[in-house]
Amino acid sequence: MTQFFSKRLSSLTPYTPGEQPVDKKYVKLNTNENPYPPSKKALDYAAAYTRSLNLYPDPVCGSLIRSIAASEGLTPEETIVTNGSDEILNFAFLAFCDDERPAAFADITYGFYPVFAQLNRIAYTEIPLKDDFTIDPADYYGLGKTIFIANPNAPTGIPLSTEQIESILKSNPDNVVVVDEAYVDFGAESCISLIRKYDNLLVTRTFSKSRSMAGVRLGYGFACPALIRDLNTIRYSTNPYNINNMTMSAAIGMLNDPEYTRDCIEKIIRTRQAAAASFEKLGFEVLPSGTNFLFVRHPQLDGESLYLQLKEKGVLVRHFTLERIRDFNRVTIGTDEEMNILFEKIREIMGGAGK
Ligand SMILES: *Cc1c(COP(=O)(O)O)cnc(C)c1O
Repeated sequence: MTQFFSKRLSSLTPYTPGEQPVDKKYVKLNTNENPYPPSKKALDYAAAYTRSLNLYPDPVCGSLIRSIAASEGLTPEETIVTNGSDEILNFAFLAFCDDERPAAFADITYGFYPVFAQLNRIAYTEIPLKDDFTIDPADYYGLGKTIFIANPNAPTGIPLSTEQIESILKSNPDNVVVVDEAYVDFGAESCISLIRKYDNLLVTRTFSKSRSMAGVRLGYGFACPALIRDLNTIRYSTNPYNINNMTMSAAIGMLNDPEYTRDCIEKIIRTRQAAAASFEKLGFEVLPSGTNFLFVRHPQLDGESLYLQLKEKGVLVRHFTLERIRDFNRVTIGTDEEMNILFEKIREIMGGAGK
């Protein structure tokens, strides 16, 4: 850090993204990307987009917002789009937290929450998960803080029910509750149905996971129109052109092929169920997952060493050094072929570790 770096941010620890190696081809099960490419419609629409690159994109993102809103039976006034859902999360910290409304989230959850809190100099409380790594909704009742909940949670994969989310919303009427539904399509209940009942609910979503488009950077959110206006105040004060022309076109193409998305999700869920059984057969503990990843640990294998040995053998998974979860690895569900390679390598490692 130079002497020029802001003193206000001198203690900021940036987010560490999962590796995106360019040196060598890995079986890449480390960043929860979808193993299947986007629908051909997404590519066709992106190739055929007509707005010239010398012009700025439409800041209102009219046609994209209408498509996204319609896909969930909501209105454009209840919808916002952002550059990845990371951006809407950052906007939510900026818009809905201050000294009187600090942030609260789980001790084990999406690693960007504490980073955004620090970046925006917002105090935050980390609420411990229970011993079984679930969230106890009662821990969030009447908190008086702006609450961020990933549902399903990451990296555990465990979902809450809509009733549990609703109980948190109900008991915190003076605070915004942000429900990060990055993985909801893989087997959890969405709480979008509560948008018109609770003016303190913001639901965030992304095209990165179930919609196979991590590379286009598109996130979105749903809330009552007043909350969406607040978020747009931040958006227009940061970057009104946060969605580029090609992203908009590709996303509209993707939304026009919902059957394709559904098929990919079904394949991933089937592969996840088979993978969970394979892990258990090898003696791993597997947390229940409503996502496109499994969070697993083995009583005899060190988490970090397994991660390193798999990497050596050309398979990337995600290991976190946080004390409570350092025995675990988070394994993204790839294609059946990729999972076969993973298990082949794990068997080699376990054989080599010598019983
Ligand atoms: C992947 C992920 C996101 C953000 O993804 P974007 O690519 O920025 O849309 C948000 N929350 C959680 C919990 C995630 O795992």
